[in-house]
Amino acid sequence: MAKIQAIRGMNDVLPDQTSAWQYLEKVMRELLSAYAYQEIRFPILEQTQLFKRSIGEVTDIVEKEMYTFEDRNGDSLSLRPEGTACCVRAAEQHGLLYNQTQKLWYMGPMYRHERPQKGRYRQFYQMGVEAFGMPGIDIEAEILMLSRDLWERLGIADVLTLEINNLGTAEDRIRYGEALREYLKQHEAALDEDSRRRLDKNVLRILDSKVPATQALLADAPQMPDHISPQSAAGFAALLDILDAASIEYVVNNRLVRGLDYYNGMVFEWTTDKLGAQSAVCSGGRYDGLSRQLGGTDTPGVGFALGMERMILLLEELGRLPADTGRTVDVYIAVIGEGVRRQALMLGQEIRSQLPGLRVLTHCGGGKYNSQLKKAFASGARVAVILEGDGELAEIKLRILDDDGETTSLSPASLCGWLSEYFG
Ligand code: ATP
Ligand code: MG
Repeated sequence: MAKIQAIRGMNDVLPDQTSAWQYLEKVMRELLSAYAYQEIRFPILEQTQLFKRSIGEVTDIVEKEMYTFEDRNGDSLSLRPEGTACCVRAAEQHGLLYNQTQKLWYMGPMYRHERPQKGRYRQFYQMGVEAFGMPGIDIEAEILMLSRDLWERLGIADVLTLEINNLGTAEDRIRYGEALREYLKQHEAALDEDSRRRLDKNVLRILDSKVPATQALLADAPQMPDHISPQSAAGFAALLDILDAASIEYVVNNRLVRGLDYYNGMVFEWTTDKLGAQSAVCSGGRYDGLSRQLGGTDTPGVGFALGMERMILLLEELGRLPADTGRTVDVYIAVIGEGVRRQALMLGQEIRSQLPGLRVLTHCGGGKYNSQLKKAFASGARVAVILEGDGELAEIKLRILDDDGETTSLSPASLCGWLSEYFG
């Protein structure tokens, strides 16, 4: 029979890779806790409407990338392609947005049917941060400071660049959209097909187009900063001031709009030139209209999401992961003969309960002494405890797993004391 393979673009994380993931997760958790953010967890499946109404019908994600299907009741469900909409849905549903502020984070898999390649998968992990109930630039600045802190803690700040833009108020966005549409309509014939389709429904997304002819047209198009209201422009200038004060370097990119429809005000993206075409590692912005758009209360929101696989690729590429010692075991209990199986299991329990810091592997599955010793060496253990006999254990043999291979014998009762001393 043919072997069953994983779904294309969905990765297994194998044991030799999990230490990198655990390291990244640990650094993130510590940082988020230092900024007093709380974790929230929500389902992987949601009503399809949640994403259509938030991300927008005329976006790459909703048009081309969602995993959508009918469940047995005939309801249309989708695997979440991102977390912000889910986070707002959950917070709103449980009253977390009512007359209060929230600083939340989440971590987990997202699903998009894209063409798999390095740094782009169909199941990928995001860590996201969302702050609710806070208008103004202080929270925007803090979120950017938090992200920069993360790069510093991970030792990758030198390869990341911050691009930032101001989309203005919802009204500014509409006004600019109209001006841009009017201009582009006059040149419709020169537009690529995707952009022509977006002209009526999602004109700002055309700014993102990679098609050279469209890019050329945009050079003479109405510019976003000319359509931003003075108050919003002043807020953005004040935000940039704080970034200067915090020594966070940035590039203002007036064509940065982001692929999701719910943003207003400040939007940003951290990119790197070390990952080829998959240059975006973290992106976000303000989305004050989203909660309302989903039928909830009017709640200001600002947040970002970062791609964890890209983060790990970057750490690997730059050699900035902490050295993995390869050691997963401290004490290896070798079991020679079936007569001592039970004693071996009990001894393992006793060491773990008396010395909780030690990693103890009790050999299972039988086998000769030599093959067990080989496994003990391979595991990285520093001591092998050797049990042999047919029930009564008058003494235990110990072997130090270094080049000298020194051995000693002692009574079962004194083993934990000996190990405690040896491992300090
Ligand atoms: P891209 O321009 O690379 O498609 P995006 O704008 O679609 O990215 P967002 O929706 O903002 O990305 O998601 C935030 C982050 O999640 C991205 O910056 C990226 O690091 C990561 N990400 C997005 N899509 C994928 C994917 N298919 N595989 C792996 N990581 C991804
Ligand atoms: Mg994308």
